[in-house]
Amino acid sequence: MNVQWYPGHMTKAVRSMQEDIKLVDLIIELLDARLPMSSRNPDINKLGQGKARLILLNKADLADAGENERWLKFFKASGAEAVLLDSRNNTGMAEVRAAVRAACKEKTERDRRRGIKNRPVRAMVAGIPNVGKSTFINSFAKKAVAKTGNKPGVTKGKQWIRLSNELELLDTPGILWPKFEDESVGLHLAMTGSINDEILPREELAMSIIALMKQDYPGRLAERYEADEQASDADILIAAAKRLGCIKKGGEPDTLRAAALITDDLRAGRLGRISIERAEAE
Ligand code: GDP
Repeated sequence: MNVQWYPGHMTKAVRSMQEDIKLVDLIIELLDARLPMSSRNPDINKLGQGKARLILLNKADLADAGENERWLKFFKASGAEAVLLDSRNNTGMAEVRAAVRAACKEKTERDRRRGIKNRPVRAMVAGIPNVGKSTFINSFAKKAVAKTGNKPGVTKGKQWIRLSNELELLDTPGILWPKFEDESVGLHLAMTGSINDEILPREELAMSIIALMKQDYPGRLAERYEADEQASDADILIAAAKRLGCIKKGGEPDTLRAAALITDDLRAGRLGRISIERAEAE
């Protein structure tokens, strides 16, 4: 499966992000815990040069718990601060705050040496579409002390969410686009619904999900669709269609409809917690 997807407004997004980056000390990079590699845009390394960095592995509630721990170790071993997060449930926010402090330690110490005290860390959130940037910012905003706006010294039009004396968050996230460096990136993002799936052959996508499930999470297809996991991916799709009552007028299994249901099941976590990408492969 070959997915090419490069929206025209990307250049504009990158440009506005370059402007915003100048205003912040810290970049909070959101990745999808189920596919940390495909949801990452390596351009952030260049864009964010000289800034403190924090990685949040969001949607950790949908990913395999064991794999989450391995990814966390992987990113920490690379020298980054990283935290597992479920933005919808506000869990892990205290941990996020501690990680922000750790990520900005050097800056805080530098400020202190120069006699600057109590200057809040300014941060921005960045990530690909759908990774949970707005959800994360909203969870933070709920606890915000105040929104600070067009004050002297504050760039016009920028809204900052003041979380504490220590931290202010820019309320508009930086949008990054995934890098389709190899075919698996598009496929993995399609599995989680992070890219528009109208451009993908649905049955092919469902069969890739079936193949992944058979290999990495044996037993789950059998449990949900009473599938014989020894059968071929195509035969499992047909069997699932029958099991799910997806039958066309003439009595033929409606594999297109079944493919959509299987894909929805994966995305909603009804096939269990799933990590599409594994840390040990890196
Ligand atoms: P954005 O495009 O990066 O701003 O993404 P959104 O904040 O709009 O989130 C996209 C979808 O992911 C929404 O349906 C959110 O409810 C969902 N979402 C965001 N964070 C999480 C999370 O940590 N766990 C789960 N299960 N869903 C999440």
